[in-house]
Amino acid sequence: MLVTEGGIDFHVHSNQSDGSFSPTKVVEYAGSVGLEAVSLCDHDTAAGHAEATRAAKEARIEFVPGIEFTAVWDSEEHHLLGYYMDVNDSTFLRVLKDCRAERKARTRKALEQLRALGCDIPPEMAEQKGGMVDRGDIVWEMIRRGYAKTFEEGYPKFFGIDAPGYVVPYSLGLVEPLTVKRAIDVIHEAGGVAILAHPMGFLVTHMSPERLKAVAEFGVDGLEVYHPRQSQDVSEYLLSACREHGLLVTGGSDCHGRVKDKPRMGTVRMDLEHLEAVKARAAEWKSRRTQRLRDAGKEKG
Ligand SMILES: [Zn+2]
Repeated sequence: MLVTEGGIDFHVHSNQSDGSFSPTKVVEYAGSVGLEAVSLCDHDTAAGHAEATRAAKEARIEFVPGIEFTAVWDSEEHHLLGYYMDVNDSTFLRVLKDCRAERKARTRKALEQLRALGCDIPPEMAEQKGGMVDRGDIVWEMIRRGYAKTFEEGYPKFFGIDAPGYVVPYSLGLVEPLTVKRAIDVIHEAGGVAILAHPMGFLVTHMSPERLKAVAEFGVDGLEVYHPRQSQDVSEYLLSACREHGLLVTGGSDCHGRVKDKPRMGTVRMDLEHLEAVKARAAEWKSRRTQRLRDAGKEKG
């Protein structure tokens, strides 16, 4: 369950995606607020893992490699967190490549839509950060250019569902859509643990019991029960779904660094027993993966 000191923050971003802290700074900050473990879950990239691993050794805290995928389900955007994947897995790498291509196209389209509103942001912005530009980055740029006052006001105004900058992921037909089911499978195939991120805290703010049952049937390993955008009632509701379907429970701050006054890291911290459960599940997926690779090797002869 939640703890007030020590513990793990399962969901943090670095400047490898849309956060402001370097992976080293993420780990250092985690240590400074007394976390015993932290997971970096950048969008569509594992590029920060090596640096964070080194920094964690130095800071003597445990680093948990993670990633956050953007997926769709019935044209609704959902995010999937993956932990402990083999980031050199060929399917995983191919999907990541597609995700990035799609992200870039989505950014281009969003900028186009915003330009139609009179917000002049150069289309080249989509190419920045190796194409890893996120909606949050665009909001910051809009603030710099005077089209929005604050992040809290700008994000929902321009990127909420039905807002003018919002583009449904994979709606551009560029690559095979990463559905929630497929994202779970890809994470599992790479030997990782799949957790549905903030199931009711971001663009989707309600999920029926049937919907939660369906995601459990897709094979998800767990739900991100605790998240700053999910109220206590919501957490209770998700927790009961976890009990009902035998799912793992995680929680994290979804910290993006210093975006407002104070970084959120450590404001959601979980007892380390949840990390142990995630690790045990990862070991299961890893051994299935090893077996599969061995079988495939035998077939090849
Ligand atoms: Zn996140």
